[in-house]
Amino acid sequence: MQVLLVEDNHLLASGISQALRAAGFIVNHVSRGNDALTAIKTSQPDIVILDLGLPDMDGMAVLRSARQDRFLNPVLILTARDTTFDKVSGLDSGADDYLAKPFEIDELLARLRALERRLGGSKSNDLVIGPVCLDTKTLEVTVNNEPLGMSRREYMLLKALMESPNKVQTRDMLDSKLYGWGEEVSSNAVEVHIHNLRKKLPDGFIRTVRGVGYVVKSTT
Ligand code: CA
Repeated sequence: MQVLLVEDNHLLASGISQALRAAGFIVNHVSRGNDALTAIKTSQPDIVILDLGLPDMDGMAVLRSARQDRFLNPVLILTARDTTFDKVSGLDSGADDYLAKPFEIDELLARLRALERRLGGSKSNDLVIGPVCLDTKTLEVTVNNEPLGMSRREYMLLKALMESPNKVQTRDMLDSKLYGWGEEVSSNAVEVHIHNLRKKLPDGFIRTVRGVGYVVKSTT
């Protein structure tokens, strides 16, 4: 899950980024509205966390412009302006949720998981396919109820595949869900993680579509 964080307060942004990374999200951060619009166009984030008070433009204008450009993924607004008017106009302008500062990081995480579930059309924190269960709250993966140890990247890769079952994902698509901008990525990183995951998962769980990418089928 790739999150775009649009927040000009660097201290707050780095706190949120750290907490989100620890919770298994990839976070890319921008401080300005114009940079946010460029990032939304070029990297199609899964979720956007959008501060309203930005130095170059109002967050609401960013939101309206992104929606006009047919960006459909969830947007969660962050703001100090905790008034009824702002909540209503924010939701009317295409925001999916709203969080007033100051907030507890746990509440932000819970709301992101709720948006994530909405994206995946699921009502629970668990992604379950066949014998494999991935809990997005505890970051635990089990096969037939037996816990599997895995690295953070392996977890994120498996999650990316399981939240879009039956959809073939290319190496580039998976890269963007595993690594933030500017992170050093070796050219075969995804293959290496897939190789390691396959040793832990049931045979045939992750399928290779030759020349295209990888897929997990909802009925394995
Ligand atoms: Ca601000």
